[in-house]
Amino acid sequence: MEAGADRSDPSGERPYEGVEKALSRGVALGQRQPQLQAALYKYTLCVTERCNLRCSYCYVEKSPRTMSRATAEAAVDFIFKRAPQGAAVDIGFFGGEPLLELPLLEYLTRLVQEHPSYDPARVGLGLTSNGTLFDDGIGAFLLANRIRLCISCDGRPAVHDRCRRSPTGEGSGRRVEQTLRCAQAALPNLRVNAVFGPETLEDLPDTVAYLSSLGVREIYLNPDVTGAWAPGHAARLEHVYGKVADQYLVWHRAGDPHYVSLVDVKMGVLARGGYHPLERCQMGGAELAIAPDGSVFPCERLFATQDPGRHRMGSVGSGVGSSAELCARRTRPPVNGECATCGLAPFCMNWCGCSNYLMTSDYDRVGPFMCASERALCAVALRVFESGVREFGPGFLQRALGGHGCDERS
Ligand code: SF4
Ligand code: SF4
Repeated sequence: MEAGADRSDPSGERPYEGVEKALSRGVALGQRQPQLQAALYKYTLCVTERCNLRCSYCYVEKSPRTMSRATAEAAVDFIFKRAPQGAAVDIGFFGGEPLLELPLLEYLTRLVQEHPSYDPARVGLGLTSNGTLFDDGIGAFLLANRIRLCISCDGRPAVHDRCRRSPTGEGSGRRVEQTLRCAQAALPNLRVNAVFGPETLEDLPDTVAYLSSLGVREIYLNPDVTGAWAPGHAARLEHVYGKVADQYLVWHRAGDPHYVSLVDVKMGVLARGGYHPLERCQMGGAELAIAPDGSVFPCERLFATQDPGRHRMGSVGSGVGSSAELCARRTRPPVNGECATCGLAPFCMNWCGCSNYLMTSDYDRVGPFMCASERALCAVALRVFESGVREFGPGFLQRALGGHGCDERS
């Protein structure tokens, strides 16, 4: 299915035409928000390619490659030299499984905090883990250094274990559940990232309910864009996302609002009248990823494609040479003809270069799953937005406007 190819139906009205019209009226809905003034500089440090799991959708090639201390030092210098003075900087520790290299994480944390340009008011640290290695000592380290923890959990153990297993095939869901209980009690602002694919799509509403029952209040939902999505799945997206949104409103009514990226991100975009240029893909510019050997890539999801050489931009030692080409690319509109006339375009993530590449091998070509998912998200977010503003008044609008611009790392 080509993106946008199914836009006619027997009634003569294109599916989503109502959503397009509502959005063109109003951005109407919301006051346009004062626009963002500065980009967030996001750096992902892939500290190791070792991992104790073998998730079926993983894009990291497992190897013993781990960042040396010399590369860690060069990487931290590179980050601070490259980010403009005064800019907000987010440094994320990533893998493989980064907690397999705890001494290196401690060393990197010291390097960041002792760097002459470090300013805790504008530099944030984060760590993404598969949740199988957490203990009290790790919790204390993260808490003492204000490192934001994001655990990957795809749902109840039976759901999680469909894709997230050890090299010998054992599920990791029970262990991750224990981690979520402990980390939730020990750390503020715990985030959970749930990846969903064709095999777990229908479980998504239950997954958010399960995570909520464990006390999680910041839930990121990210599709496996490389999954075998078929037209039948695309047809189910609006229904499934709608169930998640219903649960979101139930929590809001109960006075216990949760952050759910699937709803909050798109509602914020609708309320602001579309994606601001600084919210769009910054890969290769304000967003970079650093491999264990110090190679620099536009995004961590492009480390492990078939042709990493195509994406490699340079290294922390020698600098980055080819960013100009990538920067030019990311400001180009998608090549799909349908996008040029689509009323959802200002609200659509058709600009996500790495998602596009992983689906179509072209930074600028949107894949059919992304198109279907973005249409469903716009429809669902519009419904939640309208119900929320009707029911809860201006406070709900403010919540939407405060939504995060871009999804979390997966
Ligand atoms: S835990 Fe992360 S790095 Fe390890 S196999 Fe799973 S997705 Fe890949
Ligand atoms: S702008 Fe988005 S929703 Fe519209 S045709 Fe393009 S990819 Fe699809």
